[in-house]
Amino acid sequence: MHYDVVVVGGGAGGLELAARLGRALGPRRGRERVALIDRAVIHIWKPTLHEIAAGTLDAHQEGLSYPVLARRNHFSFLMGEMTRMDPATKSLTLGELLDSHGRPISPERTLSFGVCVLAVGSGSNSFNTPGVERAYVLERTEDAELFHKVLLAAFTRASFSSGRALSVAIVGGGATGVELAAELLEAHSEYQEGFVAEQRFRLDVAVVEAAPRILGGLPEKISRQATTALERKGVRVLTDAMVTRVAEDRLETSAGDIPAELVVWAAGVKAASSNAGLGLEISRSNQIVVDDRLRASAPDIYALGDCAQCPWEEGRSIPARAQAAHQQASYLAGVLLAKLREREVDKPFVYRDFGSLVSLGEGRGVGTLMGGLGGRNFFVEGLVAKWMYMSLHLMHHHAILGSVRTALLAVARLLQKRVSGRLKLH
Ligand SMILES: Cc1cc2nc3c(=O)[nH]c(=O)nc-3n(C[C@H](O)[C@H](O)[C@H](O)COP(=O)(O)OP(=O)(O)OC[C@H]3O[C@@H](n4cnc5c(N)ncnc54)[C@H](O)[C@@H]3O)c2cc1C
Repeated sequence: MHYDVVVVGGGAGGLELAARLGRALGPRRGRERVALIDRAVIHIWKPTLHEIAAGTLDAHQEGLSYPVLARRNHFSFLMGEMTRMDPATKSLTLGELLDSHGRPISPERTLSFGVCVLAVGSGSNSFNTPGVERAYVLERTEDAELFHKVLLAAFTRASFSSGRALSVAIVGGGATGVELAAELLEAHSEYQEGFVAEQRFRLDVAVVEAAPRILGGLPEKISRQATTALERKGVRVLTDAMVTRVAEDRLETSAGDIPAELVVWAAGVKAASSNAGLGLEISRSNQIVVDDRLRASAPDIYALGDCAQCPWEEGRSIPARAQAAHQQASYLAGVLLAKLREREVDKPFVYRDFGSLVSLGEGRGVGTLMGGLGGRNFFVEGLVAKWMYMSLHLMHHHAILGSVRTALLAVARLLQKRVSGRLKLH
């Protein structure tokens, strides 16, 4: 099997890239020349994982099937996990696929490529903290679904317990941790509404951050507003608190112990350790080192999104954000289309930071918009910020579904929530 362009990883960046290339090449040439590989068969936009974890979004309704997206956007989809790549022979291997009972459903496959784009994302960084295996993570859809199941059981247990309380600690005060904390409180209040008063229970949520403030990568004003909003909702925000151990019923930190029946680990960014075996230069956090044209250290291999360490301004790297993956996908689509048409594009990738938005539950958000009218930056909050936050998701849908389907899907989901409520209990 050979494809001119193989994109590995159909997330925020990789899927948009494959869709743009396929649509530009058309039904026949797109499918012959471009392939997307993903280990899952359903695409979920990663920034919604905290909503799936809290149960305020249903993964089965939210998920879009890769084979359907491939047909509509004219690329080929191959389901499988890339286990090896050889930059010298320009080939890669997809491991054998197994069903839930461990029985093989597809054999190991090898394919060759003209150009390979790695867009395999990243996960959190446990910093080898003792007991971290007791914590839940939000790296894949399955992780979010697992946490949701455990959370619902814990809600029920708490409602019958003598203390009538449940404690959840979230390690990491980045966007994932902050958004999850707000979403958990929404889920809890919706859950409580349907129950008799005797079964109501308290939910204690703590966000634990080693740095002096939460949302450290964002402007200080966002961090202050988010802290105030979370504290008003009853979330305990602990900063300068380094977690030293995840124990059975608590977190041990440099600022003292925090009771925690459930712990979610959402700290740091670390790419897969398997990136070290790809024969490419990688960083200390296993990200693939790329230049300002997203080129990795071997010819015809590119990397984008969270799995790539790409130079930015003042010696920093481009942050691991959906916004960056989206812009890199647009840039590479232009470069690779030119290459397929045997033309050369020699302009570097320039990341434009349009600002940052953080969701603080239904109807509330906070953020900044950069370079607005006259190049000024704007601070936004409340419903306006929340709508803008939601528009990022719509932009992703627009890139892979087009305008009409994006609008229809948005209306369908709104109606669904109106009919069956926000919280998924099954
Ligand atoms: C809860 C949460 C909230 C977030 N909120 C925001 C936000 O508000 N704004 C923002 O900008 N960013 C946010 N982010 C970060 C954002 O999700 C990422 O920056 C973005 O998804 C990165 O896109 P990507 O394409 O690099 O990787 P991903 O979207 O992670 O996609 C990687 C894909 O690669 C596939 N894959 C991985 N390994 C393999 C393999 N070996 N073989 C085959 N397939 C493989 C995976 O299945 C996945 O589909 C959030 C993240 C989380 C977890």
